[in-house]
Amino acid sequence: MIQPLFFTGVMQEKIWGGTNLRDLFGYDIPSEHTGELWAISAHKNGPATVSQGEYKGQTLTELWDQHPELFGHQPGDVFPLLTKILDAQTALSVQVHPDDAYGLKHEGELGKTECWYVIDAEDQAEIVFGHHAKTKEAFTEMIHAGEWDQLLRYVKVKPGDFFYVPSGTVHAIGGGITILETQQSSDTTYRVYDYDRKDEAGQTRPLHIQQSIDVTTIPHVDPKPMQNVVKQGDTEIKTFVDNEFFKVEEWVVDGETILKASGLYTLVSVLKGEGSIIVDSTSYPLTKGTHFILPHGINEWTLKGHLQIIASTPGENI
Ligand code: ZN
Repeated sequence: MIQPLFFTGVMQEKIWGGTNLRDLFGYDIPSEHTGELWAISAHKNGPATVSQGEYKGQTLTELWDQHPELFGHQPGDVFPLLTKILDAQTALSVQVHPDDAYGLKHEGELGKTECWYVIDAEDQAEIVFGHHAKTKEAFTEMIHAGEWDQLLRYVKVKPGDFFYVPSGTVHAIGGGITILETQQSSDTTYRVYDYDRKDEAGQTRPLHIQQSIDVTTIPHVDPKPMQNVVKQGDTEIKTFVDNEFFKVEEWVVDGETILKASGLYTLVSVLKGEGSIIVDSTSYPLTKGTHFILPHGINEWTLKGHLQIIASTPGENI
């Protein structure tokens, strides 16, 4: 009988991190500057571990390598997706990620297309999303001149907003924002600007200006996420994005609903509420901050209770 795979993730301390992973979700955090929980991850910089059941103690990386049947024998050397929760107490660096071709050629790993569901945001909180340069020459000149306010495009955010961030998009999560991020499993980041910040040792973090100029989409293209909503039983399903990298949905459960698998396997993160999931007549409790995978072979399941969930499945061409 195939069971859901529940995970214990890996906390990452960051100079811009805070305490929201504890304050909003009740996780144990290593310090007052905890930036990220890598909740469902097989990346070498922080693989998540199965917390219960038959595979307890194994990492997602080990399962990917040793039990391909759980993932529908999906081709590829690495588990392709990574789900994180980020708490930006102060702004992240302004950054851009390469696409797969550039990432594989220069960094030996895939590029990174990502997307963000805004869990919590302070009033007036904003992100950097894109830029105003019309040509590569203008982009380069404005970077070298430090004309950040003219170059960068700022967007105000509120809880419930969703942003699709394809590779090549200049971006930064601003201070006072907590997001759930679904991304390609990659850790390649080119830092364009870090506000001249120094860490506790007085060091600035490295910038990657040439790589950033190489990979940034110029002029900026503003992708519009989908907002497809369907009602299935007692659950409202909103599709934000569905492409070659991933499909990402919000499930708002208010009662009881049977759902069917729509991809090779499904990554699930509970953001709010209480309830349960029933698989093969076994019930597993769900609460905010629970992350799990419904492996290949679990074709349907029942969700019960009052739950807000972000779910994702891998795209066709990943
Ligand atoms: Zn990023």
